[in-house]
Amino acid sequence: EALASWVGRAVGHRLSNRRFPITARPTQEFGDNPVDVRETGHYTEEYVPSFVDKWDSLIDWEKRSQSEGNFFIDLLRKHGVKSVLDVATGTGFHSVRLLEAGFDAVSADGSADMLSKAFKNGMENGGHILRVVQADWRWLNRDVHGEYDAIVCLGNSFTHLFSERDRRKALAEFYAMLKHDGVLILDQRNYDAMLDRGFSSKHTFYYCGEDVAVEPEYLDEGLCRMRYDFSDGSEYHLNMYPLRKDYTRRLMTEVGFQHIETYGDFQHTYREEQPDFFVHVAEKE
Ligand code: SAM
Repeated sequence: EALASWVGRAVGHRLSNRRFPITARPTQEFGDNPVDVRETGHYTEEYVPSFVDKWDSLIDWEKRSQSEGNFFIDLLRKHGVKSVLDVATGTGFHSVRLLEAGFDAVSADGSADMLSKAFKNGMENGGHILRVVQADWRWLNRDVHGEYDAIVCLGNSFTHLFSERDRRKALAEFYAMLKHDGVLILDQRNYDAMLDRGFSSKHTFYYCGEDVAVEPEYLDEGLCRMRYDFSDGSEYHLNMYPLRKDYTRRLMTEVGFQHIETYGDFQHTYREEQPDFFVHVAEKE
């Protein structure tokens, strides 16, 4: 009870009015025409707790750590980072890794359900008490305070923004929360490969063997609708904006980042010559 109340205070009024556990919404809602759902704010409806739980139980953190290695930790250390704001905490995987590696991390996300799960995961994975803050990127500075050496936005999260205005706004908020020599690390799926090769050549991405198969179900220049098939037969979807690599880089430059380096995927599960993911490292000065 004391813990729940601490979390409630830490994450602000929207969470403090809720009691744990948060009641699970049973299904995702995309309405009559799912490919018409192209709204930035819809992400909170898509990450229903049953989807999140299933993902976390199948993709165990140990396997995920092995596949990712120390890529992000090494990168942050190379930049002399001490404080990190994880703006896409999700279920807490990176926040916990950052705390374990000794960084001073704050964990933000726009979804209260995600933060609740992340907090629980932190406790269960090493007894870490995550400092969670519910905040939408478009108004990040309103809800999160302080300046950070680094901001991480990982796990193909930026793709949830559906308008250029929202993307610019979010990047500008990230920029403003970084110290003068701060660094933003943001990853994204390689949508160029999908868009350029055509929908007919879409391939299935497998995570941790065959536990979950991820496949684009619909694709155009403004929407990538992904289907997640789990080994128990359950199925979920996410609607995402297919960011082109150079477009993301251009937006970062336009909001003021001085130097951007883009890495091809280091690991994951790619089965073809093209990487599945890109990682952008954007420096403020
Ligand atoms: N980084 C985590 C990982 O790799 O497991 C989570 C990734 S999950 C694909 C994307 C996360 O971004 C979700 O937790 C979602 O709630 C959050 N998110 C999406 N759009 C957001 C927004 N506009 N503001 C804040 N959080 C957002």
